[in-house]
Amino acid sequence: MDATEDLMRRAAAAAARVLADLWPDGRVVVHAEDVSALHFVVAAEHDGVVVRRTGEVMGSALWDSIDLGASEPFKLLDGARRTPDGNVSVELPARRFRGRPRPRRWTGDEVEKLSRQLNAIDTVVIGTRETFCRVCGFDEEDDRYFVGEPQYLICSCCESESGLDDWGPEEVGLARRAWIEGGRTWRYAEHRPAGWDPDAALAALPARWRDL
Ligand SMILES: [Zn+2]
Repeated sequence: MDATEDLMRRAAAAAARVLADLWPDGRVVVHAEDVSALHFVVAAEHDGVVVRRTGEVMGSALWDSIDLGASEPFKLLDGARRTPDGNVSVELPARRFRGRPRPRRWTGDEVEKLSRQLNAIDTVVIGTRETFCRVCGFDEEDDRYFVGEPQYLICSCCESESGLDDWGPEEVGLARRAWIEGGRTWRYAEHRPAGWDPDAALAALPARWRDL
């Protein structure tokens, strides 16, 4: 493997890592489809939506192709457009030097930063939802966050409100301790599913909310 290919492998790994963050529930399958000295393609799949992220060494182009399956785009922001094959293409402007594309090398930091910008546009195109409670893990199948914005929904189990009691790890940790010290009771016991297992619900949370 030559040095450029090694660089592209690292760029692909950074792109894949950020792509996995696109869905808050962590239930995503990401894999590298193709890596060469000239380009990489990494793909992620979640509930029938497939996002392919491609990077090219020539001209530093980085873009996503989003196959929404049976869904419609929530909103097409600047940089997102429908393609003739029915997918959505999401692009960031290519850097140019004196009017000409110039080959440059990806760094991990650069790919990470640009990938986060792509994620922000993708989130709106997909209409990303977060339905589980970050505090107790109960999934009410109602949006607690929509395209990253809190919907101020009260959890039927632990009573925490999205956007207030679960905004960051510190808030989640506090709310969870209070809920556990209170005996893990239900605010609206009539919503409690038969066979509800609080330990299993907590264990199923994405690592960033589970390990607090
Ligand atoms: Zn809860």
